Amino acid sequence: LQRYRLSFSRLTKNRFRWLIVILTAGYIILALRLFHLQVICAPRLKAKAESLIRTKINLPARRGTIYDRNFNKLAVTVDAYDIAVRPAVLGKDKVQVLTQLASLIGVDRYTILKKAENRKKPFYVARGVDIDVGDKVKKAKLPGVDVLRTMKRVYPYGQLAAHIIGFTDVDGRGIAGLEKVFDRELSGKDGYVIAEKDARGKIIAGSYRERVEPVHGKDIVLTIDITIQSAVENYLDKESFSKYHAAGATAIVMDPKTGEILALANYPTFDPNNVGAFPIENQRNRAVTDLYEPGSTLKTITACAALEEGVIDVNDTFPCNGSMTIGRRTIRCSIHPPFTHGHGNVNVAKVLCYSCNMGAAAIGFRLGAKRLYEYEEAFGLYEKPGSKLDGETCCRWHDTWRDWPDVRLANIAFGQGIVVTPLQLARAYCAVANGGLLMRPYLVKQILNQDGTVERTFHPRATRRVISERTARMVCEMLHGVVTDGTGKPARVEGYKVGGKTGSAQKAGPNGGYAPGKFVASFVGFLPVTDPRLVILVVVDEPKGTHFGATAAAPTFREIARKAMWYMKVPPDDEETFQAYKKASESRRSADSSLKVNFKNETVNSRR
Ligand SMILES: [Zn+2]
Repeated sequence: LQRYRLSFSRLTKNRFRWLIVILTAGYIILALRLFHLQVICAPRLKAKAESLIRTKINLPARRGTIYDRNFNKLAVTVDAYDIAVRPAVLGKDKVQVLTQLASLIGVDRYTILKKAENRKKPFYVARGVDIDVGDKVKKAKLPGVDVLRTMKRVYPYGQLAAHIIGFTDVDGRGIAGLEKVFDRELSGKDGYVIAEKDARGKIIAGSYRERVEPVHGKDIVLTIDITIQSAVENYLDKESFSKYHAAGATAIVMDPKTGEILALANYPTFDPNNVGAFPIENQRNRAVTDLYEPGSTLKTITACAALEEGVIDVNDTFPCNGSMTIGRRTIRCSIHPPFTHGHGNVNVAKVLCYSCNMGAAAIGFRLGAKRLYEYEEAFGLYEKPGSKLDGETCCRWHDTWRDWPDVRLANIAFGQGIVVTPLQLARAYCAVANGGLLMRPYLVKQILNQDGTVERTFHPRATRRVISERTARMVCEMLHGVVTDGTGKPARVEGYKVGGKTGSAQKAGPNGGYAPGKFVASFVGFLPVTDPRLVILVVVDEPKGTHFGATAAAPTFREIARKAMWYMKVPPDDEETFQAYKKASESRRSADSSLKVNFKNETVNSRR
């Protein structure tokens, strides 16, 4: 037994010794670990712990407003809601909750149910929902449905000036038109605030700190006048686009002295509030992106160049017998009765008045390819106009004047085989109307800070002098003759001296050559000739039933011009005709309204 006792105590002693060794080692490891955690890892762990309870809340900047020149709001940002769904929370009630949500926001329930199918992560059901609708959803307190405060872009005038203003995406980024070009100025800079969350992820009230205020976007004031813009859109549709079932139509109204664009419209068009409802093709800003053959409207440039260079005199005449053969090619004149055998001997004024191709070709030959090319270049026909509109284009010649054969020179002198955008041509006519200065067209007048102070003003800028004032004046008078005696008669506006030029050009076919029966008809003019206040261009793409600018475009010019002159209170050149017309139209209008009153009384009576 003693032996046993001895061995037992030895055994215990041994074990005890081992225990001490193990415990000591354990303490050393623990101490090392603590040192590692508290000294080496501390900053990283502290940050990690804080991030679990601290959260950064975005304070979105409000996008700036786009105004017309009279501070009418064309694009505004309003409060709205985004509605999101968390499928994980929905669980078994999914169908019931989503059906109720669909009826609250006015969306087809199957659309939402389909969207929710096989989804586990949260997703948006609707974005930019109106405040009152969002409040209704909020009140319904549907489980798994989040109503989040946001902002939304609204265009109060719908499709008015849609191609100029453009639109934003759902996140409020400008992706078309001036919304895109001036996105940086309009969008501002988001701010943020740091707050603390409790264990359930809810923000603890009063825990906000480190607040950085958002910098709201700047406002933009355009040169556009909505009264003129809406008249342009109305008449362009009624008198050109719809009336002649055209493929497209464009109108531009500019102040020739400043280069300000007062109105610019295209058809087909779209509503920026609901872009998805229109074909993407409707978004094309034809005024700056579409190159077309200007046809006879270009004869004005040829005449300007020849008169400025002194290669022709106003009394020089050119023979026209209806056609001309150059090499193996025959070019024809635009002949209508009573000019079936050509225009006879015509001077430069008559060339414009009757739109004589032979005369324009003869003037082109006197000028030569080099000088004609140089004047077209000076008038801005080979450069982008610089309006800041998205997608501006221009034709850059690959073959310069050196390669023009005679027949090409003749064609270009009367506007064929050369392409321009509507804005380029309107700009060139501004230079003729304002005494020979080529102006940079522009659309943005001012950029304003949020406190209303002016951040930047855009002033009129002359690009270059193209022709002398004397030449410009002469050509303006000749263009007045076009409207009084020539092809431009349908553009006459009672009481005002109007100058302008018709144009019609066959469209290029897909395999070179011309597409049969497809024309671009146009009219470009200005008024009053004595002191031009407006240049107005109307271009109609593929009108059906006519290909004459005088028919498809000049009446639209007339209606826009008449409305704009009255609206701008421009004194008429001929007070007598003006008053007579005004009287007649007023009595006609009162007759119309009395008719309506009678009609109304009748219906009221019949109901009684
Ligand atoms: Zn002729």
